[in-house]
Amino acid sequence: MPSSLCEPLTNSSINFEYQKNDDWITSGKLGSREAVLVFRTNILNPKIRKTLSEKSSAQALSEAKDNEEEQSVECQKEVEQKESTSSTSEPSNKEAVSGSTQQKIYLLKNPQQCDKSDKLTFSNPFNKIVNRYSSSDTSISSEGEEPAHSSESKLRVLKTSQNAINIKLAADISKESGYESTAPAKSISCTEVSEEDPEVTSEDDDECGIHMPAFKLKITYKFHQTETKLLRKLFNVHGLTEIQGENNNFNLLWTGVHMKLDIVRNLAPYQRVNHFPRSYEMTRKDRLYKNIERMQHLRGMKHFDIVPQTFVLPIESRDLVVAHNKHRGPWIVKPAASSRGRGIFIVNSPDQIPQDEQAVVSKYIVDPLCIDGHKCDLRVYVLVTSFDPLIIYLFEEGIVRLATVKYDRHADNLWNPCMHLCNYSINKYHSDYIRSSDAQDEDVGHKWTLSALLRHLKLQSCDTRQLMLNIEDLIIKAVLACAQSIISACRMFVPNGNNCFELYGFDILIDNALKPWLLEVNLSPSMGVDSPLDTKVKSCLMADLLTCVGIPAYSPEMRSHYDQKWSRFRSSSCQRLATYSSVSQKTKKSKKKGAPINLNLTGEEQRILRNARLQYSRRGGFVRIFPTDDSMQRYGNFLDSANGIPISTPTVQSQTFQTPILQHNYNQMLHQNLYCKDGRQKLDDNSEADRIWQYERALETDSEIPFVKKPAVEKCEVEGRRLRKVMLKKISNGSELTPFQARQTFSIYLESVLRRLTEDPKDNHEKIILKFLNKFGGSVKPPVLFRNMQTIKVASKARSAMVAKLLGDFLENYKRDTEAYVDSFDHFGMIPSSAYNQFLMHAQESDLEAVLTLHTNVTGIMPFLYNRCGLSVPPTPPIPSGLHGFLRALPSMVTSSGMARELSKYDGYFKSYDKEKIFL
Ligand code: ADP
Repeated sequence: MPSSLCEPLTNSSINFEYQKNDDWITSGKLGSREAVLVFRTNILNPKIRKTLSEKSSAQALSEAKDNEEEQSVECQKEVEQKESTSSTSEPSNKEAVSGSTQQKIYLLKNPQQCDKSDKLTFSNPFNKIVNRYSSSDTSISSEGEEPAHSSESKLRVLKTSQNAINIKLAADISKESGYESTAPAKSISCTEVSEEDPEVTSEDDDECGIHMPAFKLKITYKFHQTETKLLRKLFNVHGLTEIQGENNNFNLLWTGVHMKLDIVRNLAPYQRVNHFPRSYEMTRKDRLYKNIERMQHLRGMKHFDIVPQTFVLPIESRDLVVAHNKHRGPWIVKPAASSRGRGIFIVNSPDQIPQDEQAVVSKYIVDPLCIDGHKCDLRVYVLVTSFDPLIIYLFEEGIVRLATVKYDRHADNLWNPCMHLCNYSINKYHSDYIRSSDAQDEDVGHKWTLSALLRHLKLQSCDTRQLMLNIEDLIIKAVLACAQSIISACRMFVPNGNNCFELYGFDILIDNALKPWLLEVNLSPSMGVDSPLDTKVKSCLMADLLTCVGIPAYSPEMRSHYDQKWSRFRSSSCQRLATYSSVSQKTKKSKKKGAPINLNLTGEEQRILRNARLQYSRRGGFVRIFPTDDSMQRYGNFLDSANGIPISTPTVQSQTFQTPILQHNYNQMLHQNLYCKDGRQKLDDNSEADRIWQYERALETDSEIPFVKKPAVEKCEVEGRRLRKVMLKKISNGSELTPFQARQTFSIYLESVLRRLTEDPKDNHEKIILKFLNKFGGSVKPPVLFRNMQTIKVASKARSAMVAKLLGDFLENYKRDTEAYVDSFDHFGMIPSSAYNQFLMHAQESDLEAVLTLHTNVTGIMPFLYNRCGLSVPPTPPIPSGLHGFLRALPSMVTSSGMARELSKYDGYFKSYDKEKIFL
């Protein structure tokens, strides 16, 4: 790498006041190419933010580190000296990567010398928080490769500052109300929308981001088709500024859907985006299974037996029947384009699946791991920062989701989603669902942490070490199976090495023999939070992710400077491409002489190596699972021997050998340089034992985590009644609701009904809602599909939960569709919007019902259901007066659509359950 790229800017015109105060910047001195922002969860705490804003962030922290300053300078000089002798030599604990050491170094005890008992000096030996960079540390080490537990020593060094900034997580992280996805069905299928409760929210306060370096540097972020309050909050308190619209001058683009290729193509070196092109190869259920199946054929079933046997219908219907005749069901049927447990059902035999169903059908795992009798599954967070070379991290903490109803494999209740599906979005509607109300309760209720599960299993003498190694193996193999086409897309479209990163949500089911099975990989895993525990896990996850990925700390002036340098650098590094034969000769020569491998590194390879090390030093709670010391031994066979790319098609393997251009083998290069010095010395301490230790530690338990629920909107009943009278009068006098107002009224009304269904289920109201949805559920996008549950005669908590879930899904889609009707102008003959909004603010269910009833009876139209000029609009039915009269009339307001007729096919499916007893 040209040394100029590592140098701090000397351009006098770029004068930046944070030059010395760089506690929120790491990996390099401000102005150097490596400098990136630091994210920490502690400043989500309003008290800490206040302190920082009073003193300014840097001042507050520099006081705490005064003592170390001298040592840092000494050490810095020493490292810089070493640096100048070899820019690519591996950093040991004292030798650190130059970019980062330019700012400061904390003298750490060599972790190898660390007494193992050091780990036990904390109140809880499994306490995760002590080793966190971003969530608890007030300072991020600028060291290079650093062993997983070394930050404990740093913790001691920084005791003063730790005390000064007591760690508390934010009380006021809130959950997003869901993605506003207007993406086509394909995109929606791979995007996970938030499953968490909309009522949990943040009461926002004075953001103190203006004191942060990111604010001074004018660092910007942009959301596209996504909205997570947690992320927005993190960005804002760290001083990043949101940009909107067509402006693409962002530092970070966070999208909820796949990215447009023209945006990717034009990314500047300092820009980051949260997806790789063609990620759908992994995140679409059907693509994932096909990619893994290909690897099973190519590499052998025993190596890729990581997913339940799966068929994509209708194409593979016959294969499914053949498989069923060999090994009988049950089978779980999932729409190819859906998430959150929507449209999933379980059948005992393929003939119970409607013909022509477009679905993914998997063998149902009948013997899942149960906790206290409840089926559970696991959500783990996987960060890929590069596909070539492959760099995969697994976040140390995950979420375990439990089904509400006890699992019973001999029951005739395959229909019961609250027993067989662990999705939060289904189980939250069950009246027995328990939310933990304390962040320290990691094994309470129906959501646990991964570490709590591991500790629980360990107590039962289960081999949790092997379980975690198997989970790592599953993740690596899934990524290997899908990597090839993502890599070719990256080569085609991504202009700079560091532009893309991606956080995937892996859903894993563990069976009772502790074998993990991959169920699916989620694009944009939900960052919604519904409990203090969620808040803690996800805040730490996001802060650590942003620090690890590294948002370059460049001001706009610096950007243009780097843009110029970078393009010069790229063009010169491109010229380095040589023919394969010439370079292989060179390699052979140098091997004979026993020359260190890094002498052969190209500029690009040096950049990759340097970047991998710096990233590793910022990893926080992420555990790097690829590369590790034995990754080449374990997975080398699945990589092309010439270019190191994971091979999933036999043809490509032969093609790559024919190419005359040098195929860089970045995977091999990285592994060699991280783990073997002259083939002898191991330099990275990312050992198996370290990784397992990290997974098993609990999240911090001694810190109070206030969690604020959104205060119920204060409605004034009297005012509501008064405004209702006003509205009724206007309607009687001929005023009409605009389509937007009518739809708004209808959705708020259905929300009240939904609340009642969950709090106080009523059999007849459930039936009315089902009837309505059966006819009308197909008219929203995406349609709310369901099986006709009227055949399940017995009212039960599980049935109530199913109905509530359906209504919840319908409402979400209906509200999204309503956005298309927004109308900010008042029209003649219509009710003025300001007066109507006042009414909506205070209206209770009965007020909304009264307005909808009168409007329908007087106008003879139903703008909340149909456009005025729509074809098949049924005549309005007479709406009975009295409480819930509107609700009772609702099913007769809609016609049976084609969709409903389609869905009625499922009646047979449910009837078959009535007849036969099903044994799993
Ligand atoms: P979605 O994307 O709609 O959430 P998933 O594939 O994650 O769909 O499945 C939803 C739930 O169904 C999971 O939480 C899991 O409990 C259950 N499940 C999915 N596939 C299987 C399977 N093959 N065997 C047993 N249970 C499964």
